[in-house]
Amino acid sequence: MIAYYGNNENNSRRNLKCAICRINIDNKTKTYQSRTTFGVVCYNCIKKFSQDYIELILNIFLVYRGYFGQLKDHKDCKHSIETVIKDTMTKLKQKKLNIDELNTRLLHIVLLYGFTPNEYIKNLKLFLEE
Ligand SMILES: [Zn+2]
Repeated sequence: MIAYYGNNENNSRRNLKCAICRINIDNKTKTYQSRTTFGVVCYNCIKKFSQDYIELILNIFLVYRGYFGQLKDHKDCKHSIETVIKDTMTKLKQKKLNIDELNTRLLHIVLLYGFTPNEYIKNLKLFLEE
């Protein structure tokens, strides 16, 4: 059971924002609350991501900050996911991170650009097959 209806008896959710995409959450919509980070997630994100990915994304944003799609509408940003992965890999290689750190940091950047973990995994595979 991933989602439940929030309590709408008071206005405590008036300024509540989704912990993944930062959209305002009103009292009537379905939400999911993480039991580990306590982040509240909007219905769009519930539909978009599996529960495992939701927990992973919440943890990544807790550590590295930002939100899903933060860089998506950037004026100079017309990046494809391939470009984002390639550019980020080049930058991160200089930092000599281990493979897990590299993966997490890459996924974080990809999320900031509004790409999903599934898109990331699919493109990373293509990238590594080259
Ligand atoms: Zn959301």
